[in-house]
Amino acid sequence: MKTLLLADVALTMDGRGAIHYDAGVLLEGTHILAVAPRAQFDGVEAKRVALGRRLLMPGLINAHTHTPMTLFRGLAEGYSLLTLEGWFEGIRLWELAMTPDMVPPAVSVSCAEMIRTGTTCFADQYFYMDRIAPAVRASGMRAALAYGVVELGDANARDWALRATAGFLESLSDDPRLAGWIGPHALFVDNQLTTIQAELALADEYAAGLHIHLATSGEEDAYCLQHYGTTAVQQMKRIGMLDRRLIAAHCLTIPDEDLATLAAAPFTAVIAPSACMRAGKPAAPLKRMLAEGIGVALGTDNVTANNSYDLFKEMQILGKLMSYREGVPNPIPARTIVEMVTTRAASALGLGSETGSLEAGKRADLIAIDLDAPGFAPHRAQDIYTALVYAVSGMSVTDVMVDGRWLMRDGRLLTVDYRAACERLDAAHEALVARRQRLVTDGELMEV
Ligand SMILES: [Zn+2]
Repeated sequence: MKTLLLADVALTMDGRGAIHYDAGVLLEGTHILAVAPRAQFDGVEAKRVALGRRLLMPGLINAHTHTPMTLFRGLAEGYSLLTLEGWFEGIRLWELAMTPDMVPPAVSVSCAEMIRTGTTCFADQYFYMDRIAPAVRASGMRAALAYGVVELGDANARDWALRATAGFLESLSDDPRLAGWIGPHALFVDNQLTTIQAELALADEYAAGLHIHLATSGEEDAYCLQHYGTTAVQQMKRIGMLDRRLIAAHCLTIPDEDLATLAAAPFTAVIAPSACMRAGKPAAPLKRMLAEGIGVALGTDNVTANNSYDLFKEMQILGKLMSYREGVPNPIPARTIVEMVTTRAASALGLGSETGSLEAGKRADLIAIDLDAPGFAPHRAQDIYTALVYAVSGMSVTDVMVDGRWLMRDGRLLTVDYRAACERLDAAHEALVARRQRLVTDGELMEV
């Protein structure tokens, strides 16, 4: 049975930048059959769903998250999580006190908040990925899940993490919506060369992408200059890391002379402006990256550092931050910013032919936004991309669909019971605080 969604506007994000008014999106099963003005569907046999004064657009893609860290939201205020020292002081004890059963409620709350604000797909990176995947699957979202490898020089931890990563990649090999990735936390500083080489071998074996943090503070460059006599990017190139699909969060301090190397690689810099601004770090050189031809996408990062999953907010913050950085109005066009959460993000995740735009043959991953919500008026005067980036909130999203299945209808979440998930998260949080206190009292964890 075909379904025809009818709405006032369809923003396709296709290569031609087509925007249809009084539009129809024809679906069959999990896929889009056609997107066109409604008149072209006259006589087509399909179940008609009249959405009315809505804007249909591709579901948004959050290219850098750590969903279990919703457990720590509010607990690391005042710490920069973009330096090893800040992570050590602000997060380490909480992570050591966390137990695997605390992960699923944090992931469910994360998925619910992403769906509520129009995100249909995300790239996650963390350990306990085996506990993350079932909660994501239950939400109906699409995701690239990177199994976090943190070793800090411990060979046993490394061997265990690598075996667990292989098992995880194997377990997702046939999943229709979840892709297994590999997530070295950060290179060189806390993943040794032998570990990175083992991760690259796994990436080849499972055709998996790599999701890392890069250039958050210059620590990798300092380490690589000392140990290898070159920058982190050049060392990555030397060991073959830039031959594989790679997404790298932040990219704040990459030396200018390394940008051309990244442009030639299947590499995407994931900009996370809120995390960067809240940590008091300088902004990534996005304008220069775009000019060089480097792949770029947008991510919220964890909500301990952000503290929101709303990609509409994040687009707005990015646009304003870049104006502030460059000292001119709108150095990054609003349309480019929307591409960073749609087409460009889809390409970064290897999903360019699957999602990221409303086009025939792609997956039915889409959202509807209320055109009567604050920010759109005057409707005929405003450029749609500008309204989406600078005026509209994720709370104006009314409906969300992934693979042809509604995850939210008229603002009501259908796959995640948000209230119940929040209650479970509150209980997990209480258990976390108590456990940390107990471990410190017993001398098993040392306060810094
Ligand atoms: Zn991160």
